[in-house]
Amino acid sequence: MADVILVLNAGSSSIKFSAFDVQGKALSLVTHGQVEGLFSSPRFVAFNANGEKTGEHAWGDGVKLEHAEAIAHLGAFLRGHGAGHHLIGVGHRVVHGGAHFTKPVLTSPEVLDALDKLTPLAPLHQPHNLKPIRIIAERNPGLPQVACFDTAFHATQDPLAQAFALPESITKNGVRRYGFHGLSYEYIASALPEIAPDAARGRTVVAHLGNGASLCALSAGKSVASTMGFTAVDGLMMGTRCGNLDPGVILYLLDELGMNAREIEDLLYRGSGLLGVSGVSGDMRALLASSDERARFAIDLYVYRIGRELGSMSAALQGLDAVVFTAGIGEHSKEIRQRVCEQAAWWGIELDAQANASGGPRISTASSKVSAWVIPTNEELMIARHALTLIEGASA
Ligand code: ADP
Repeated sequence: MADVILVLNAGSSSIKFSAFDVQGKALSLVTHGQVEGLFSSPRFVAFNANGEKTGEHAWGDGVKLEHAEAIAHLGAFLRGHGAGHHLIGVGHRVVHGGAHFTKPVLTSPEVLDALDKLTPLAPLHQPHNLKPIRIIAERNPGLPQVACFDTAFHATQDPLAQAFALPESITKNGVRRYGFHGLSYEYIASALPEIAPDAARGRTVVAHLGNGASLCALSAGKSVASTMGFTAVDGLMMGTRCGNLDPGVILYLLDELGMNAREIEDLLYRGSGLLGVSGVSGDMRALLASSDERARFAIDLYVYRIGRELGSMSAALQGLDAVVFTAGIGEHSKEIRQRVCEQAAWWGIELDAQANASGGPRISTASSKVSAWVIPTNEELMIARHALTLIEGASA
């Protein structure tokens, strides 16, 4: 039976998982799924590589399921389905690697302590990302575990691209731009040479448009700038996050509207973006299907903000050769892709309507000065690749 690598992406209320068969250097998906609603109405669901449901369980409304119990359930499922028999290691998505962790790392108590110290930089995600690593280490101390960071891919950015115009007394605490969605961008950069060799060598802006959204400027496959900064709330308008905001607005919310820090956090992360502007939904599909005028305005603003930031990313690249769309909206919404490309027509992007309707991968015409592409991202595979490399390195 083949070796298996498990990939976990743990959040505050859900744990997503994927398991990959290892055959030499090749990784193939065996099963994936999630436990969601951990503290409200926990549900487990698993699928095979063809997307057919292979497991399902609900604990009932109002049940609180700790991360440890969810992982125990997942472990039992994997063992029952053979996917855990030769588990050689676990790869984890960890949002923040700070200035120090610029590559994936094998975890140890010392590494976990160092990653704990980064919690103030990502309080909503970091503790939940680290929890399963400790739970698994306790139960299975010999099993190698690898932490893969959303920030690491952006470590190649010039100090200028990472700096805020703030005094050193503040920036020395680690207050700088880090950038996120790095595992997604790294996967796209790894896929480009085969799919779009010119884009792989050239100046390419990748648009990761999911519930969270950001742009990354790639120069020959390396990150030179990103719209997300110190936190994942900066940059583009997102499902429920506001993106770029005049810092003076925060002062106004504090001083004039009497909001406290937690209320502002809730507004910026969970009550803004598509949801806040439309008042209808933070889900792009729902907005595209809505005839509400505010839904239309929210979509207009979403596209406009991408256009503005595309200009900023292109300036960092000193030009533009290609644009790549990825993640939920980027991969599935031909309408949003079309509108973004139309807005960027001044760059020389000429959309091929038929190719766009069928999902690409190339969606620009042969004569388009700037090429446009749709490439599905695969952060889980990227994590599994890193985990395999480090596990093999450790046992060599
Ligand atoms: P996450 O960032 O949570 O991983 P996804 O990458 O799955 O999220 O993206 C979710 C977004 O993708 C939602 O706004 C959803 O409406 C949108 N989406 C998914 N399919 C489509 C579609 N066919 N058309 C438009 N939007 C879509």
